[in-house]
Amino acid sequence: MAETKHGYLVLADISGYTSYLAQVELDHAHGILSDLLETIVEQFKPLLTISKLEGDAVFANVDEEQVTRPESLLELIENTYIAFRRKRESSQRTTTCTCRACQNIGTLELKFFLHHGDYIVQNISGIRELVGSDVNLIHRLTKNHVTENTGWKAYLLFTQTAMECLKMQLDGLHPQDETYEHLGTVPTWTCNLIPRYEALTSAHRVTIPREEADVVTIHEFNASLCTVWDWIMDIQNRNKTMGGIGSWTVISRGEGNRSGAGSVNHCAHGKGISQETILDWRPFEYATVESVDGPVTFHEMLVFEALDEGKGTKLEARVKMLKPKPLLLARLMVKMEFRKKNPYKMWFDEIDKILAQRDNPSPS
Ligand SMILES: [Zn+2]
Repeated sequence: MAETKHGYLVLADISGYTSYLAQVELDHAHGILSDLLETIVEQFKPLLTISKLEGDAVFANVDEEQVTRPESLLELIENTYIAFRRKRESSQRTTTCTCRACQNIGTLELKFFLHHGDYIVQNISGIRELVGSDVNLIHRLTKNHVTENTGWKAYLLFTQTAMECLKMQLDGLHPQDETYEHLGTVPTWTCNLIPRYEALTSAHRVTIPREEADVVTIHEFNASLCTVWDWIMDIQNRNKTMGGIGSWTVISRGEGNRSGAGSVNHCAHGKGISQETILDWRPFEYATVESVDGPVTFHEMLVFEALDEGKGTKLEARVKMLKPKPLLLARLMVKMEFRKKNPYKMWFDEIDKILAQRDNPSPS
């Protein structure tokens, strides 16, 4: 018997494809489409299970308990949109072909649908498929009135149910009820991906090259990129793993009430309170922050890298001192302190323990 699962259902749908296909050369169009679908699948992989490729769409899911930080799901979708745009633009730029398929690549767009619900993983003759009324619903949602009412061509549509499960207060969403035969009225919320794309791709990059860092701590985790990112970057998760070192609170979030550049966190610890401001936020790749703790100011860059086909993650923490002056002395002090007791090491070891417990729960 297949058991009913709960989780998020995600559908990425390349729009404009049907009319595009009708009027262009099939072999080139097919090549372009499979490149774009492959790009979507690659981006989805760190968090989602691909359920099915559906011609011009990718259908995927993730069980609820695997999402430790809901915003990661949004960030994964935004990253996918950025990768799609890059692929589309590079294909367009590099082609010398004058056929209509190659000339019209730019008319293809990408829409995402996110729903939360129940599904059964059905396995018939080795063919795995998700079934259930919520699976039907997300597919029905591709026929909606969003573009008609907003003019938006690239968007992320959440059902009300998904929105409630994500527990996020996002700004600038378009509310709309859609009605479908047998399913009734479905309240939805839609986010325009174009301004998000522009903000994310134009955001200033702040990095610390390894050779400029005063201390570098490297650790390898036995978990996927998204999982490690969530344990390191999420404030609630930090409080579970940094117990002895500090207690964190979110003071303010970035634009659109999202995690990102400009967000501020406080950390109360033995000696006082330090303030962390996020300078650069590139989910699952790196984050750079500025920390001010009394007279001390430093920058910290956390660099994430997938290992072992996504089963593991390498994390590199780079610290660069900025204050107090004279800097030479501050740099020397931090090196000495870290040699005596590396706070990252304690934190990372604690995360390792939790991950090991999760993978091998002790019988109770
Ligand atoms: Zn062509």
